[in-house]
Amino acid sequence: TERLLQKSEKLAILGQMAAGIAHEIRNPLTSIKGFIQLFKTSNQQEEYYDIVLSEIDRINEIVGEFLVLAKPSAAIFAEQDVKVLIKDVVTLINNQSILNNVQIYVEFDSDLPMVSCEKSQLKQVFLNLLKNSIEAMPNGGNIDVKVKEKVEGEISILIIDEGMGIPKERISTLGEPFYTTKEKGTGLGLMTCYKIIESHNGQLTIQSEVNQGTTIEIIMPTISQPLLVRG
Ligand code: ADP
Ligand code: MG
Repeated sequence: TERLLQKSEKLAILGQMAAGIAHEIRNPLTSIKGFIQLFKTSNQQEEYYDIVLSEIDRINEIVGEFLVLAKPSAAIFAEQDVKVLIKDVVTLINNQSILNNVQIYVEFDSDLPMVSCEKSQLKQVFLNLLKNSIEAMPNGGNIDVKVKEKVEGEISILIIDEGMGIPKERISTLGEPFYTTKEKGTGLGLMTCYKIIESHNGQLTIQSEVNQGTTIEIIMPTISQPLLVRG
């Protein structure tokens, strides 16, 4: 019975997700259709191009998030240096942070152990979280990223912002798809992060204080040092 229950639960979740995706994709599609119809009858089409393009981008973003989730079966886990992955992502997001007056400070323990992970997935997690932090500080601010070996066998990755924060009652619902407070949000970023970290046997926790900021902690198992071969 346990298996059956799990299966029906999964189907229920799948049904909810499918309904959510269909809804989220139908909205921009309806809008695109409307604008294309306008194109046919209007002479000033230029101004609508950007709207249509941004709606197409939105569909692409939604589909992209789901592709990340669909990938784990093909995921290739390899030994990686979290430091390098974070530096890559900070470089990637540099433009957006400068434009938003946000400074990102990174602090790594020396001699950090390696982790076993799917590189692109873990980078996606850091990217989603840093984006959220930047978006939480519309007037700019600082983000601290700290990585340390918390206890033997585990590293802790902290992403700390000074943004608008999240109300206490919202924190527990944050992994749910399509919850967003942003006009252009997808509400898929955090769900993706949770799923990816879970599939890496890690943990993601969120602490937040409204108008103070948000701290995300990711705990990941590390690869133990290879034993010295004697003789
Ligand atoms: P999106 O960014 O598309 O809205 P996410 O799943 O990434 O979707 O985030 C869901 C919601 O969680 C956001 O809309 C926002 O309200 C809240 N949130 C996430 N991260 C932060 C943060 N660092 N500070 C404040 N709110 C956040
Ligand atoms: Mg987001």
